[in-house]
Amino acid sequence: MVTINDNYLKLKAGYLFPEIARRVNAFVEANPDAKVIRLGIGDVTEPLPEACRTAMIRAVEEMGDRNGFKGYGPEQGYGWLREKIAQFDFQSRGCDIDASEIFISDGSKCDCGNILDIFGDTNTIAVTDPVYPVYVDTNVMAGHTGDVNDRGEYGGLVYLPISAENHFTASIPSEKVDLIYLCFPNNPTGATATREHLQAWVNYAKAHGSIIFFDAAYEAFITDPELPHSIYEIEGARDCAIEFRSFSKNAGFTGTRCALTVVPKTLMGKAADGSDVSLWQLWNRRQSTKFNGVSYVVQRGAEAVYSPDGQNQVQALVRFYMDNAQIIRNQLTAAGIQVYGGVNAPYVWVKTPHNLSSWDFFDKLLNTVNVVGTPGSGFGAAGEGYFRISAFNSRENVEEAMRRITEKFKV
Ligand SMILES: *Cc1c(COP(=O)(O)O)cnc(C)c1O
Repeated sequence: MVTINDNYLKLKAGYLFPEIARRVNAFVEANPDAKVIRLGIGDVTEPLPEACRTAMIRAVEEMGDRNGFKGYGPEQGYGWLREKIAQFDFQSRGCDIDASEIFISDGSKCDCGNILDIFGDTNTIAVTDPVYPVYVDTNVMAGHTGDVNDRGEYGGLVYLPISAENHFTASIPSEKVDLIYLCFPNNPTGATATREHLQAWVNYAKAHGSIIFFDAAYEAFITDPELPHSIYEIEGARDCAIEFRSFSKNAGFTGTRCALTVVPKTLMGKAADGSDVSLWQLWNRRQSTKFNGVSYVVQRGAEAVYSPDGQNQVQALVRFYMDNAQIIRNQLTAAGIQVYGGVNAPYVWVKTPHNLSSWDFFDKLLNTVNVVGTPGSGFGAAGEGYFRISAFNSRENVEEAMRRITEKFKV
């Protein structure tokens, strides 16, 4: 019989979301009349911007004509989309990023995992705790970790705890790590990084020859003009950082699928023989071999994000979710609950009252006001005592959930 990749057996059973579903289902069965509001989801809820839909419809029509038909596109993405991204998302912010350094893909989640293909197996890897689980699980699958302990931590990974005490920004490690995952604005905590904080990471990475994986999936939600949107706004980042971006959260492409990864041509890694090798070349080779590009129709939809109408519509979408976040912040604060995040990110990170555990607070919210969120402990041991509430929902649901909490929920 064939053997399997045993690393998969090290993965903790997908515990968080199935357990939430189990508890919600049990509650609904016992209370069939309760109107449960789900504020736990990390998916968008509002329709695709009109500019994107119009562009996609036009692209479908083109494909229906022999002269307009497109077969395989470039594995790296169409030049016209890469040029727009380079100009609007990077060069306009003073980032020295060329279109040829932008690789279009079908998702940041996929790219966060796929990028490990071009790195060796002996790198030391650092993640924050709590963390977006994809960073950890993809390293487990690739065999970069040992077994999991009873706190849910994998052997061999360096965990950088983040909490209210350090404003949810990890301190720079004292030891040497090779690969560092940073996500700003952060999922799940909603925290942001200042220029100074990112500069400290870039300085660290350059001093140690490390690479930073910078996940900027939520950059469009930044409202504070002082905060950097891209790691390439930081001096030296071209020599030590790969950035992941996505159309999922700003333009509602979670079901449409389009994202991008920036690999500067200046990035280098060491080969076994000690020579320096271009990471751009390796990623280009990897994508050309294992990927056949994002559909023409979807890339036209993504391009429309950069049209004047697209920009207005995306900004309106982001504002809508951020108004939700502000309602959540204000109402929870009025109910006596300590909140973080939700100012430059669509997630509000709640300190559970009376030092309740994340799961006890989950049960209490579900049972008293029929509102569902996500227990912070599901994102890592240091998330214990916290709770994530998502602003991705209808205004009606957000207002109703907050009304119930302020009326019925006594802290
Ligand atoms: C939603 C999200 C992404 C985007 O993933 P896609 O595969 O592009 O939809 C990336 N990183 C984080 C932390 C996210 O929450």
